[in-house]
Amino acid sequence: MAGDNVIKHSSENPFESMKKRFDVAAKIIGLDESDYNVLIAPQKAVIVNIPVTMDDGKVRVFEGFRVVHNANLGPSKGGIRYSMDVHLDEVKALAAWMTWKCAVVGIPYGGGKGGIKCDPRSMSKGELERLTRSYTDLMVDVFGPDKDIPAPDMGTGPQEMAWIMDEYSKLVGHSTPAVVTGKPIVLGGSLGRVEATGRGVMVSTRSALSKLGISPIGATTAVQGFGNVGSISAKLLASQGMKVVAISDVSGAYYNENGINVEEAIAYRDGNKGTLEGFTAGRKITNAELLELEVDVLVPAAMEDQINEENADRIKAKMIVEGANGPTSASADEILNRKGIMVVPDILANAGGVTVSYFEWVQNRLGYFWTEERVYRRADRVMKTAFEGVYAASQKYNISMRIAAYVVAIEKVAEVEKLRGKFGL
Ligand code: NAD
Repeated sequence: MAGDNVIKHSSENPFESMKKRFDVAAKIIGLDESDYNVLIAPQKAVIVNIPVTMDDGKVRVFEGFRVVHNANLGPSKGGIRYSMDVHLDEVKALAAWMTWKCAVVGIPYGGGKGGIKCDPRSMSKGELERLTRSYTDLMVDVFGPDKDIPAPDMGTGPQEMAWIMDEYSKLVGHSTPAVVTGKPIVLGGSLGRVEATGRGVMVSTRSALSKLGISPIGATTAVQGFGNVGSISAKLLASQGMKVVAISDVSGAYYNENGINVEEAIAYRDGNKGTLEGFTAGRKITNAELLELEVDVLVPAAMEDQINEENADRIKAKMIVEGANGPTSASADEILNRKGIMVVPDILANAGGVTVSYFEWVQNRLGYFWTEERVYRRADRVMKTAFEGVYAASQKYNISMRIAAYVVAIEKVAEVEKLRGKFGL
């Protein structure tokens, strides 16, 4: 245990947390009861028990999930998480967030999510491969380039996506790269995918700063989490002239009021088994203290429920841009609103990742590759347009950006449901 560095979690059930926001937005747009009932319930939840022969010859059985929350706008899209914390309610919440996220940025996908309850760090590469292939075998009727398209999430990456692509292709009898995104570039992955989420966080931060009349030059920021999303967000925010005064990971947080050189911090992490442990270019503080720093922009980019009813009142940032999924609990929303803190919600701020996943799928289907410059240009445009749409809704209804994002998304999914009828996959 990391002592006082461990953040106390509120015990909010993630699906309930999603539903609370949905309820508020549904009331604002006057969603009728029938539409409410259809849109809140996941369309499909599949639970499988995956037998895997471990390296010691014994067979272990792992619990795996795939939830399709809604497929009104197109095939369901969402990552697969490998973690001991995976449970059905978490996967249901993450799948629903994907539905709203895809609708907010206007890409033709529904929402899905998957997970396997396992500890990938304690498993060998061979065990992970057998687990991933068996999970794919059991999900072959769920997955498909026109049905349900997985991607990486916590604990999975390009290698797992390559195994899924290969196993699925064998099962259907032809090469099907578009069944999964986040693949290695050589297998049909997209340029710009690795940077996509952090880049979207940067673009949304710039849009939000301009609404508050704050120049990015010299604006201070603290970033929680230094993995894919946190480190790339920090690097790109610094590239815009912002001063990154604090960064963190599981080893703790590091604060320097004169600014941290993010490129050096990334190089340090990469040469230090992926962690910031022992980083000396900043004073060591706790992750809890990082969240409460007086900065212009706070970027939580680690995990769920970091800002909750216990610490929300002590947050001093002018703005929160949510790189992680679900970093703020529903009960904290009200406190942040009361304090006048602008929150750019996860389903908008971190949607750059799924946007470039969509571009990967488009390229696979065309059998063509885009340049990095084209990927960035199109993704930036999608993010800016989505931000303006959500901002306009927040002004129109006089509501927070979070509820405005739900309003935009629910209106769109409900409209399509009306046009199509009660579509059940
Ligand atoms: P990652 O595994 O690359 O990085 C996670 C980082 O958080 C690591 O630096 C880890 O040390 C740190 N961390 C973990 N627990 C922490 C704690 N208690 N306090 C402080 N730091 C902690 O994961 P990622 O891909 O960067 O994802 C981070 C979040 O962003 C997740 O919520 C994920 O669902 C979300 N997200 C990721 C993407 C993507 O494209 N990778 C897209 C959208 C949303």
